[in-house]
Amino acid sequence: MTDTQISAQTAASPASSVPQQRKIVTAVPGPKSLELHDRRSKVVPAGVSSALPVYIQRANGAVLVDVDGNQFIDFGAGIGVTTVGHTEARVVEAAAGQLHDVIHTLFTITPYEEYVRVAELLAEHTPGNWQKKSVLVNSGAEAVENGVKIARKYTGRRGVAVLDHAYHGRTNLTMAMNFKAMPYASGFGPFAGDVYHAPSSYPYRDGLSGTDAAARTIGYLEKIIGASDLACLVVEPIQGEGGFMVPADEYLPTLQGWCTENGVVMIADEIQSGMARTGRYYASEHFGWEPDLVLSAKGIAGGLPLAAVTGRAEIMDAAHPGGLGGTFGGNPVACAAAIAVFESIEQNHLLAEGRRIEATLTAGLERLKRRYDIIGDIRGKGAMIAIELVQPGTRDTTKVPNAEAVGALVAFAAQNGVLLLSAGTYGNVLRFLPSFAVTDELIEDGLRVLDDGLAALG
Ligand SMILES: *Cc1c(COP(=O)(O)O)cnc(C)c1O
Repeated sequence: MTDTQISAQTAASPASSVPQQRKIVTAVPGPKSLELHDRRSKVVPAGVSSALPVYIQRANGAVLVDVDGNQFIDFGAGIGVTTVGHTEARVVEAAAGQLHDVIHTLFTITPYEEYVRVAELLAEHTPGNWQKKSVLVNSGAEAVENGVKIARKYTGRRGVAVLDHAYHGRTNLTMAMNFKAMPYASGFGPFAGDVYHAPSSYPYRDGLSGTDAAARTIGYLEKIIGASDLACLVVEPIQGEGGFMVPADEYLPTLQGWCTENGVVMIADEIQSGMARTGRYYASEHFGWEPDLVLSAKGIAGGLPLAAVTGRAEIMDAAHPGGLGGTFGGNPVACAAAIAVFESIEQNHLLAEGRRIEATLTAGLERLKRRYDIIGDIRGKGAMIAIELVQPGTRDTTKVPNAEAVGALVAFAAQNGVLLLSAGTYGNVLRFLPSFAVTDELIEDGLRVLDDGLAALG
C-alpha cells in the first residue's frame, strides 16, 4: 500500500468511527456475547477473568461497541491504555504505515530508527534535566523487572523496597512487590526474596503530612533492611490498583532526598499514571519529584504493547552489553504508534484535555458527594480520578470500606451502557480513567447513570 492509499483510508476511516454515545439494545451481556462466552469458557482458563464479559467488536474515541450492538461509554480505557482515544487516527496511520515497512528485526540484532526516536522522546518528556537513556520492553511488569535489575547492578546491593497498597505486576518478582496477595499471588509462590514493604502516604486514612509520612517510611526501611543493603525504592506517584491514592505534598521529594543521600535508586512506576494521564506528562511532576528511573507502559503506544525504563544515563549504563533486551522489546510497529502518541499529546493539546476532564469529573462527583454520604473521598489528577466508598454514616469517623456498593454500582453502570472499573486494597474504590476523547457531555451522561445507581442503592 502506498502512503497516499494509507492516509486516504484513515482520513476517511468510516469503518472505525463510532457515534460518541451510549446505547443499550439487548440485555447485558447480549446473546452474541453469551455465545462467545460459552466458547471462551472451553478454551480460556478461569484464571483469566473479565470484568464485563461483553465481547467488543469496535472501539473508537471513548466508546466501545459490542457484538450485540450495545455501546458503552468507556471510563476504563483498557486500564488507562488508550489515553489518546480508541483507534486514534494518528496511531492507526503510523502503525499501519510501519506494518508495510518493517514489522520485526529485533533491535539487538539489527536496529531501526523508531526505537531511537522513542528513547529521545522519553528523554525529553520524563522529569529531570539530565542525560537519560531508555530500554524498551513489552509490558509494565517487564519494565519493573528491568528497573530492579539495573538498580541492583548499579548499586551492587540486593534489597528492593515498595510501599503498602502498591501494584507492580504479575511476574514472579512483581508478585512479591504487590500489596494484595489476592488475586495476584495467592497460591503462586514461592516468591522472590529481598522485597521489603513499607508504609505509604494515604492522606484520607492516615491523616499524616508528607514529611511525617516520609519519616515513617524511612524509619521503617532503616529498621527492616537498612539503606546500605537497599538497591532501590519503587513507588507509584499516584497508586493505581491500590485505589488512586495521591500522596501528601513533600512525601515523594522527601523520599527521593533520602534515597539520593544513601545511594538508593528511586524508581517511579508511572506505568498507569504516566504518558499524560494526569494532565502532566508524568504524575511525578505534580509533586516536584524527579526520580532516578521512570517506568512507562500502559498509555505509551495507544494500545499496542510497549514499555520502557528511562533514567539517568550513568545508572542505565551500569548493565553490561547483552544484559538487557528481549525478542519483541521495542517492536517497530509499537514504536511507530508511540511516536504518534507523543505527537497526539502535543498536537491535540492533551495535557489541557486532562485538566478539562479533571474539572468536569470532580465537579460532578462533588455534587454527588453532597447528596450521598457513602462517598468518602474524591481524589486523583487529570483523567485519573476515583471515589472511595464507605459505609453510611462513617465517612468522617471510622471510614468503613463499602465494597458492596462499588460492586452494585459497577453492575448498574454496565447495564446502562457505562463501563466503570473498581480498584482499591479494600475493593471500595470506583475509578475513572477515560480516554482524552471523552467529551464533557459523555462525562455528564456517565455521572447521571452513577447518580441513578447511587439512588437505587437506597
Ligand atoms: C498495570 C501496571 C503494572 C503492570 O503492567 P503490565 O503491562 O500489566 O505488566 C505495573 N505497575 C503499575 C502501576 C500498573 O498500573
